[in-house]
Amino acid sequence: MNKAFVFRIQPDKEQKILLAKTFGCVRFIWNKMLSDKKEWYEETGKSLKTTPAKYKEEFPWLKEVDSLALANEQLSLEKAYKNFWNGKGKVGFPKFKSKHKDRSSYTTNYVNGNIEISNGKMKLPKLKWVTIKQHREIPDGYQLKSCTVSQEPDGNYYVSILFAYEQKIKPQEIENVIGLDFSMKELYVDDEGRIPEYPGFYRKAQEKLAREQRKLSKCEKGSSNRAKQRKIVAKLHKKVSNQRKDFLHKQSRQIINAYDAVVVENLNMKDMSMALKFGKSVHDNGWGMFVLFLQYKLGEAGKQLVKVEKWFPSSKTCCECGKKKDELTLSERVYICECGNIMDRDQNAAINIRQEGLRILGIA
Ligand SMILES: [Zn+2]
Repeated sequence: MNKAFVFRIQPDKEQKILLAKTFGCVRFIWNKMLSDKKEWYEETGKSLKTTPAKYKEEFPWLKEVDSLALANEQLSLEKAYKNFWNGKGKVGFPKFKSKHKDRSSYTTNYVNGNIEISNGKMKLPKLKWVTIKQHREIPDGYQLKSCTVSQEPDGNYYVSILFAYEQKIKPQEIENVIGLDFSMKELYVDDEGRIPEYPGFYRKAQEKLAREQRKLSKCEKGSSNRAKQRKIVAKLHKKVSNQRKDFLHKQSRQIINAYDAVVVENLNMKDMSMALKFGKSVHDNGWGMFVLFLQYKLGEAGKQLVKVEKWFPSSKTCCECGKKKDELTLSERVYICECGNIMDRDQNAAINIRQEGLRILGIA
């Protein structure tokens, strides 16, 4: 895990001059490499591999500043290029940096003790010891990785220090366990028969999306109306999927706050949509994403996600007497057993899933 701490620094007169030089040099090297790359590409159609070191002879003043700052500029320019090529038009071409429009900053890395913090001072490459207003202690075991030094428009200087640390998670004692049965329509049904309640606005947006999709399918192919309608549908799609994601975050958070372990079936959504011919709607249902959210949130809390094997007969088994039916069609929404158990089919399955989870956890 990484964590950044931001502190104000107070450079002296000489250090301010060096900082201004460094900000200028990283801007210069960015613009120089960018223009050379552009030129080379226009001439040859190939991408130019270049490094700051190649410019140091022609521009010797580059040697006066932190060479790691220049190296980081090269890396971020390459990243900007990559984002442009992979962004499929969503990310613009890297821009030239201006002294007035762009923030003055540079990033340097921790190598062999070149950065230190001690007694209200911070050591930075080339800059030596600079006064730092450290208003927070750095916890033990945090390892310094890199620093970004910047000057804000108000003239003040700051350093953002990035640390890596190992997160120590204390395993929770498992007391409360919930079983969830996947449901096409409702996302899931839990072992008490509860279903998650999607907010009304989400349902409304979903209905609107379905309406607009129907409209799209009726538009004539290649027509301008179709292009327009496609944009409307794409926009709604994005909205619905954002709302769903938001809901899945909240719903998983609620469950994790209330339970120490969550038991689900180990389903493969792709196989399932093919086998049951549910088609696209199984993917849109969000179950896969929901399980992912549960998994990492439980992990962070020292709690557990238990996956029950997919051949476990959660639906066919009676949760009261343990008897197993040979056949259970999808249309049978209520589970009826000779023992007298009459229960919602999904709740019956969720209870079985929970029981199996308890067995796996060794607390049944
Ligand atoms: Zn029974």
